[in-house]
Amino acid sequence: MRDFVFTGQASRVVFGAGSLAHLEREVDLLGAKRVLVLCTPEQQALAEDVAKRLGQRAAGVYAKAVMHVPVEVANAAIQEADRLAADGLIAVGGGSTIGLAKAIALQSSRPILALPTTYAGSEMTPIWGMTESGLKKTGRDTRVLPRTVIYDPQLTLSLPVSLSITSGMNAIAHAAEGLYAHDSNPVMDLMAEEGIRALAAAMPVLRTSPSDVDARSNALYGAWLCGTVLGNVGMALHHKLCHTLGGTLNLPHAEVHTVVLPHAIAFNADAAPAAMQRIARALHHDDAANGLYQLAKHNGAPVALRDIGMQEKDIDRIAHIAVQNPYWNPRPVNTEAEASLRALLQRAWQGAPPA
Ligand code: NAD
Repeated sequence: MRDFVFTGQASRVVFGAGSLAHLEREVDLLGAKRVLVLCTPEQQALAEDVAKRLGQRAAGVYAKAVMHVPVEVANAAIQEADRLAADGLIAVGGGSTIGLAKAIALQSSRPILALPTTYAGSEMTPIWGMTESGLKKTGRDTRVLPRTVIYDPQLTLSLPVSLSITSGMNAIAHAAEGLYAHDSNPVMDLMAEEGIRALAAAMPVLRTSPSDVDARSNALYGAWLCGTVLGNVGMALHHKLCHTLGGTLNLPHAEVHTVVLPHAIAFNADAAPAAMQRIARALHHDDAANGLYQLAKHNGAPVALRDIGMQEKDIDRIAHIAVQNPYWNPRPVNTEAEASLRALLQRAWQGAPPA
């Protein structure tokens, strides 16, 4: 048994199909009297429904969340929260909406209640991100960790099948990297393996029967576990590559994670055998990297960066940026690793199986 430090992060989780019915009770427990409901423009109807349930306790709906939290959007939302004298925030949506709530909380310490509708996992992390002049800044601050999370699988029934699979792969990526994190612990290992197992088992059902509430529940349960891992331990090469590809080339978040994950896991396989064993076991496959590749492919997700908007000429640039200020990784990522990363990206660009 290795030595470890475990810091429990205080958030309350209410889980279950139909658990949105507990919203008023949870807002009371949060101690908020006037909450601002945040969402993307596409999810305004859902946010209006949430506000309606709260009656006088809803200060308003702010439907302007967009990907990567541009600082101008965050500032406008803070002004709106001030204008409406909101003392709490409800984020109804995926990582973009929860990210906007976090940006407001970072400035004002307003408590957040999250109603996640994707599997990205932001609701379980104290990590915030904001984009200014094309550059994404991130940081950790316990003020942005949602105090309460209501996981209602009914809210995920409308998530399109393609995004359900790629968002699920995004969640699995947090758990897979958590399994070889240098600051992990046995509790996170349990959560990570179980999170991968639950999501991988749910995916084939989501693909054919996206309204299956049991499969939606299993997927959201897996997303909770994987998000918790992301919130507790450090991420490595896979997340660095995805942040570089997303930030530099503006490629779609969940799809990038889906394509890159099998290749990053293959890159680390020899350096992290125990993690590979757990990932493979959770996938019921004999090889972790190949199992992830097959999981994406069999469920109709993209497996090639060229299919999600990357041009081949960008491979060199991304490999070069990825070896600058690398995250900790079980297999060292230094300037000598640049050629190996280039080869990794070439395979991911073509959609070849992981080497
Ligand atoms: P998203 O929040 O951008 O949502 C994608 C699209 O799907 C949006 O148009 C949204 O309105 C729509 N959508 C969401 N749920 C839906 C549903 N149930 N039915 C129909 N449509 C729905 O996507 P995401 O992948 O959840 O989040 C990505 C963002 O979150 C990125 O900016 C990423 O960096 C960030 N993120 C942050 C953390 C963190 O810990 N800070 C963790 C994960 C992701």
